[in-house]
Amino acid sequence: MIFQSIGSQFRAPDMWRHLTAHASRDSSTKLTHTLEATFGGKAFLYQNGRSALAAALTQIALDHPGASVAVNGYSCFVVQEAVHAAGLTPVFLDIDPNALHFSGDTLAKALTENTDIKAVVVQNTLGIPCDIETIERITTKRNICLIEDLAHSAGLRYGDGRAAGSVGAFVILSFGRDKLLDTVSGGALIVRQSTDTSKLPQHELLAPLGTRLRDRLYPFFTWIARMLYPIKVGGVLLRGLLWTKLISRSASGSINPSYTMPAWQAECALYRLKELDHDIGRRKALQEIYQERLPSLIVADTPVRVSIMVKDRAAVLRALRAHHYYLDDIWYDSPIGPRRLYPSVAFPESRCPHAVYAAEHIINLPTHVSVDKTTARHIAQIIAEEEA
Ligand SMILES: *Cc1c(COP(=O)(O)O)cnc(C)c1O
Repeated sequence: MIFQSIGSQFRAPDMWRHLTAHASRDSSTKLTHTLEATFGGKAFLYQNGRSALAAALTQIALDHPGASVAVNGYSCFVVQEAVHAAGLTPVFLDIDPNALHFSGDTLAKALTENTDIKAVVVQNTLGIPCDIETIERITTKRNICLIEDLAHSAGLRYGDGRAAGSVGAFVILSFGRDKLLDTVSGGALIVRQSTDTSKLPQHELLAPLGTRLRDRLYPFFTWIARMLYPIKVGGVLLRGLLWTKLISRSASGSINPSYTMPAWQAECALYRLKELDHDIGRRKALQEIYQERLPSLIVADTPVRVSIMVKDRAAVLRALRAHHYYLDDIWYDSPIGPRRLYPSVAFPESRCPHAVYAAEHIINLPTHVSVDKTTARHIAQIIAEEEA
């Protein structure tokens, strides 16, 4: 029984650590300092990654009110939501199918066509390095602000050997559910350029107690639901938890840059950061196993999930489900995911054919802690047989 999501990054000990984590007085300061030492610059903590991104974009809006922001045309709903929250307009760039990310060429063309674009967000989709060298050359030449969104790629090395988060003027981290640094929620902004940060949205308040409690209990509730899944009760419980809002749906939280991360969560984030390199190594080993049977998968440097295009996705998912591998939660099954929020996005499908194709054909192979090598081999085998 393997799920892609539903708290799968929390085995019993992780769940317990999250549930009982308590802050020392300087946990948040320690996290801030760690991020500053890692990325260089000034770090700020937020309730989630989208709020950190919105805060960065608010800074850009000070100099360029109403400007446009180039974003990946294959991404999470919250990215374009953050752009709107800052009063700016997203411009979706189609992806290079081998990178799930826009290329330098696509960016250059967009900048020529649309001189309102004043910032670019790169995101190393699913841990696959983007062509940062070309993108950086273009943004530097045209004096466009470069933002690195590391929600999928904390710990990544670009093709030229540089660390992710060492290039952009702003760096965003997400500590959200199913991310590499999963503490259920939380985010950070690192301002790497020397700017006046006095106008950054303030970040001293805590989210309402109910929200914080829900984030604290999420690994516990989902752990129980996963345990009870084999006797059907788990599925019912999960629906009940969603219905009573004891757990929230992904991408459903709001943007509020005035909320900070609670200190106990900062303590959890410090732990995830300490374990990050080891965790990436473990994920890469699983990726290699998948690759033995599925040579066409897209190789990632921080495989938060492993991406592969399949011919008949419905059939593959059905075959996996028959073996109790529930991999239906997909990044992304619409050009802007999750699908339930897609209708509210004005997405230019005709200009982003590669993103539309990827959304129809991609599946994600899990690399979280509950997956061992035998399981990975079995999953790869099922897919290879289904696709043969
Ligand atoms: C998840 C995600 C974020 C931030 O998400 P939060 O849930 O707000 O922490 C930002 N960018 C991308 C590409 C993401 O997938």
